[in-house]
Amino acid sequence: MERDIYDEDHEAFRDVVKEFCKRYVTNEKREQWDAAGEIDRQTMRAAGDAGIIGLSVPEEFGGAGMLQDYRFRTVVMEEVIAAGAGSLAGAFGIQDDLAVPYIVHMGTQEQKQKWLPGMATGEILGALAMTEPGAGSDLRGIKTTAKKVDGGYIVNGAKTFISSGKTADMVVTFVKTGDGNRPDAFSLLILESGMAGFDHGKKLHKMGFQGHDTAELSFSDVFVPEANLISGKEGMGFVQLMMNLPLERLSIGVAGAAAAQAALDWTIAYTKDREAFGQRIIDFQNTRFQLADVAATVDALWAYTDRALLAYKDGKLSAEEAAKVKFWATEREWEILDTCVQLHGGYGYITEYPIARAFLDARVHRIYGGTNEIMREIVGRQLAGKK
Ligand SMILES: Cc1cc2nc3c(=O)[nH]c(=O)nc-3n(C[C@H](O)[C@H](O)[C@H](O)COP(=O)(O)OP(=O)(O)OC[C@H]3O[C@@H](n4cnc5c(N)ncnc54)[C@H](O)[C@@H]3O)c2cc1C
Repeated sequence: MERDIYDEDHEAFRDVVKEFCKRYVTNEKREQWDAAGEIDRQTMRAAGDAGIIGLSVPEEFGGAGMLQDYRFRTVVMEEVIAAGAGSLAGAFGIQDDLAVPYIVHMGTQEQKQKWLPGMATGEILGALAMTEPGAGSDLRGIKTTAKKVDGGYIVNGAKTFISSGKTADMVVTFVKTGDGNRPDAFSLLILESGMAGFDHGKKLHKMGFQGHDTAELSFSDVFVPEANLISGKEGMGFVQLMMNLPLERLSIGVAGAAAAQAALDWTIAYTKDREAFGQRIIDFQNTRFQLADVAATVDALWAYTDRALLAYKDGKLSAEEAAKVKFWATEREWEILDTCVQLHGGYGYITEYPIARAFLDARVHRIYGGTNEIMREIVGRQLAGKK
């Protein structure tokens, strides 16, 4: 089914992203990222130079100024995922969907001036640290504290599973600034790489997204100046997280749709090429039936995510709607990836093939950004009329 959410500007931008992928997403590069467990800085700089990261950074700070028009971001996701570079798509996502929005939408003027120009060029890499060893779904259970002292805060605690956590220059960090677990007991502080007592810790070994770093972070008496308090207001951290979560969840849903589309395209090509019992794999009725199911689901995925994208653009995507998109799209993505691996036979299991890597990458879509159980809980509570 033809999609109709993009106009000429988006398609022209797509050509830029395609050109970038042709140049920078080579097999050699992918292997290098996987071996290093992170995306090299030059590639992030090149993405900044090409104008494909920092998309929501206002023009006055050197960005593209695409504040609410998330369609440019989805063009980037679609093309980078189609190029078989899930890890790079992940690194771009952390920068543009998890770090930049807190500065663009909630940062003080000083914070914008300090961080945004470098985030647009890819010189400054960001991350968002909420999860802790003892608290993931239940974020109000975090233990990292920020104690008020003269001119700033002293931060103690630890975070885990932080995407881009090893490479980030600045980490928007969810901390406790008050007692108890009321929403106003939390704040967001920017911790900077190199601050005394801030350790980027261990890089974690994952089943997927091999080329994108995920790390533990630890904080031991880190002094963080007051100027690094997001929006300059204490006690707003929980509300601020809630404000950006719809975007984070929408982005994961769209990444799921893009991966499902890529899997369909790779599988059609593969099954046309490969033969068994004297015919192409695609000529078996089972293959065509499976692909027909996948193709219809991919159409439905786009119809749904495109609708959500437009709602987001108009400022109408609620937390519950974003949660629905996230869990539904990533569950369908998972089923599709599994079918497509199967249709590749043994090669579907070999990570040299993009289908195998995409399958491994897809698994975490149902876990991070809020697990799909928590997404269903959010939707279910609304249906039940609970707050
Ligand atoms: C590769 C990767 C990258 C990540 N990147 C980041 C990042 O950049 N920043 C960040 O802050 N975090 C990040 N995370 C953390 C991620 O968001 C959490 O892992 C996730 O929110 C789940 O938290 P948890 O691991 O503590 O699981 P738990 O909360 O311990 O959940 C365990 C199981 O219990 C279920 N469960 C929990 N509560 C309920 C409930 N109320 N009802 C029903 N079931 C429930 C969960 O759904 C899950 O199945 C990342 C994780 C991974 C694996």
